[in-house]
Amino acid sequence: MQTLRASKCGLSTAQLPASILDVIDALTKAGYEAYIVGGGVRDLMLGLNPKDYDAVTNATPSQIKEVFGRRCRIIGRRFELAHVYSGRELIEVATFRAPPKKAVTSAAGMILRDNNWGSIEQDFSRRDFSINALYYQPRKDVVLDFCHAVEDIQSRTLRLLGDPQLRFEEDPVRMLRALRFSAKLKFSIDPKILEIFTPERTQLLRDVSPHRLYDESQKLFTMGHLYQVLPMLIDFGIWRQLFAEIRPEITPFIERAAKNTDQRIQIGKTINPAFFYAVLLWKPFLERCDFYLQKGVVPTEARAQAGLDVLKRQATRTVIPRFAETFIREVWEMQTRLLNPKPQQIEALSNHARFRAGFDFLLLREKSGDNTTQSMGSWWDAYQLMSSDEKERAIGQYNRQRAKTRRKAAQEEPAETKVAIEIEPLVQEQEPRSRRSRKAKTTETTSRTSTQDTSELSHDHPILKRKRVKRDLSQVVFGPTQ
Ligand code: ATP
Ligand code: MG
Repeated sequence: MQTLRASKCGLSTAQLPASILDVIDALTKAGYEAYIVGGGVRDLMLGLNPKDYDAVTNATPSQIKEVFGRRCRIIGRRFELAHVYSGRELIEVATFRAPPKKAVTSAAGMILRDNNWGSIEQDFSRRDFSINALYYQPRKDVVLDFCHAVEDIQSRTLRLLGDPQLRFEEDPVRMLRALRFSAKLKFSIDPKILEIFTPERTQLLRDVSPHRLYDESQKLFTMGHLYQVLPMLIDFGIWRQLFAEIRPEITPFIERAAKNTDQRIQIGKTINPAFFYAVLLWKPFLERCDFYLQKGVVPTEARAQAGLDVLKRQATRTVIPRFAETFIREVWEMQTRLLNPKPQQIEALSNHARFRAGFDFLLLREKSGDNTTQSMGSWWDAYQLMSSDEKERAIGQYNRQRAKTRRKAAQEEPAETKVAIEIEPLVQEQEPRSRRSRKAKTTETTSRTSTQDTSELSHDHPILKRKRVKRDLSQVVFGPTQ
């Protein structure tokens, strides 16, 4: 172990937010050891702005709770941690951990419980990469380096501690972390990792909970280097594990959306992580819509059911939370609305809660060469910048054009295939997941017409029985959907 002078490693307390210093000071004052560890130290050494700071101590979670009282909450089961609030910041405080005992690993070697407290040396050896295993005590101006991590930072190498195969088996999520750090930090991956990082080995991810994989996918989407990591996900076989139903190819739309996401993060704009899921799943969604349309399902129902199907299948890999699922389906539904809006609803539509996301999505489609948007992305783009007089004129012009197109279409198509525009809600809220799965179980046992069946829709499928209700549209107010 090397004890290095922190100031010589480019670290100083002046760079640190008051919140992390407050946590380190309170633990030290109570007689415990306390360090900053992980991404905070690594990023500061690289001259980057850390996303957050993690602290580690020899105090157990209940002792940490004693120190911070109501500012502290203990979370996690598999991996017990203290969340300490300092001002408006939240700092994760972990206790030094010893290697897990055999009894708490799965048959495949995956760690199921990891709450075995230990010494700092033991804690170091169970961290993932060397560059994430530096311990910084800011008040003493020291950095503890157990594994020549500083050299790895200087040579920009991502090296796993211990035997790579064993470390991936213990926690397959480390495979995702390897690609994330390599893309984010522009580090090369140690050949010892590359040797064993095969597409077959990514199958270990099948044992990781789809909830945890969703969280990890979000980290990949929001780290600011999504464009760099996407081809890596394909090359290493991770894509197939995370997005089984999505063809492993980076379409112009996906590429543009990824670059756009990274740019937004770079300039400090907010992003909704579910947006990129809406992008990834757009093609499977359209294909599923076609499937229902060909079976004679009315377009509104086809879209609703296709949305549910596609999200249900994705949930076998990454469980997208309910609110995010609703967001995704609303963005998709907005595509229909924005493509063919009723003239009298245009202004209301531009003020709709989902307008921004729906419009961004439409414009990304258009700019990546999707001409099915019929230039409506640019139309809405221009519309938003207009004065009220200009808007009125633009709507008038749009109305005339629309009437012309409809007349033409009416001459060409038989009347019954015409599609009416349905008005709100954008998305019918689903029943809670628990009830859905219970229902699904009973229907699965009684009939085999589940949505998984891609080949056939039986003639008595409920979706074919639904009738379109004729509504008095003049009475409908276009409003928020949630
Ligand atoms: P960032 O926060 O920038 O994404 P980080 O390295 O801080 O990166 P965290 O997920 O915040 O990542 O974890 C903090 C530290 O905990 C890591 O630096 C690493 O030392 C340890 N750690 C996290 N996840 C694992 C894991 N799956 N296996 C081993 N150690 C881990
Ligand atoms: Mg961190």
